[in-house]
Amino acid sequence: AFNFCAGPAALPEAVLRQAQEELLDFRGTGMSVMEMSHRDQVVVELAQRAEQDLRDLLGISDDYAVLFLHGGASTQFAMVPLNLMGGNGKADYVNTGQWSSKAIKEARRYGDINVAASSEDRNFSYVPPQADWTLSADADYLHYCPNETIGGLEFDFIPEVDKPLVADMSSTILSRPLDVNRFGLIYAGAQKNIGPAGITLVIVRRDLLGRAGASVPAMLNYQIHADNDSMYNTPPTFAWYLAGLVFQWLKDQGGLTAMATINERKAKRLYDFIDASGFYSNPVEKANRSWMNVPFVLANSDLDKDFLAEAGAAGLHNLKGHRSVGGMRASIYNAVPEAAVEALVAFMADFEKRHG
Ligand code: PLP
Repeated sequence: AFNFCAGPAALPEAVLRQAQEELLDFRGTGMSVMEMSHRDQVVVELAQRAEQDLRDLLGISDDYAVLFLHGGASTQFAMVPLNLMGGNGKADYVNTGQWSSKAIKEARRYGDINVAASSEDRNFSYVPPQADWTLSADADYLHYCPNETIGGLEFDFIPEVDKPLVADMSSTILSRPLDVNRFGLIYAGAQKNIGPAGITLVIVRRDLLGRAGASVPAMLNYQIHADNDSMYNTPPTFAWYLAGLVFQWLKDQGGLTAMATINERKAKRLYDFIDASGFYSNPVEKANRSWMNVPFVLANSDLDKDFLAEAGAAGLHNLKGHRSVGGMRASIYNAVPEAAVEALVAFMADFEKRHG
């Protein structure tokens, strides 16, 4: 069976097998890793190893703290303004879809938010060129979502700004190499390319720490998490362990350059098939099509139910589009093999032949 879920998403089979093998007896300790104290040296070491492997994969320098937190990317919608809007109480946001919109809505609780650009006018089907943005001179940071998981819309450039750049990379991180030095802060919920749900990654430039106001709760303060190596309270140790296995798996695959080659090929295969067909379509401007999330609609939406039922029977799972937009969506994160995309394309061609 192949799993095209947008999140929680498929994990590499090798990772699940290793976790299964180690489940009852973690490397000779006689205990499961989920039964161990986060102060135990064994757990501290695996946590450090996970961080180092991530640093190696993304080339993260010591100028950045790497945090493993609770609360999902949604908590970051609040933590970012609470920690970074200490200066002018103002921030620029780019609105390219539902996740950007949610980040904007949350940030508005804490300060003055300028929507510097939006593609809502064309149903979030394109990324507004930076030349058209209205940036504020006194913003504390600029926030954007490089990959909109629901719309399947991806930036084909990194914004150039003279203030800290903040990115919600939940559904694109680790899909290809990235120049982390361009960013002030990157965050990502784990449950797509990192590991299981329950842990959230934050990569933050150290000079941005310590800007939270006195009333910001300790658990929402980046400085406190950084000072405590993300162990200010009990961290999600089992999810952290699994994320570490995924990072090792990525290294074994040849790192992010190798993943990028595969991911680009998977996405191209699917988009080329959709574009060549008169039966399926994708509304996103070609330059901004996501490598990770591929939404598509059938020419006749009355067939949606049959498509999903037949796909499920063929072992192709979780292809239903987000409840807010309908249609279909194939999420093809790192752990989804090329064979899955081949199987999907073959199924779609056959379905079209029978119903088109
Ligand atoms: N941002 C993006 C781009 C997402 O895809 C998601 C979830 O799918 C979120 C934020 C919310 O993440 P969480 O459910 O971890 O809070």
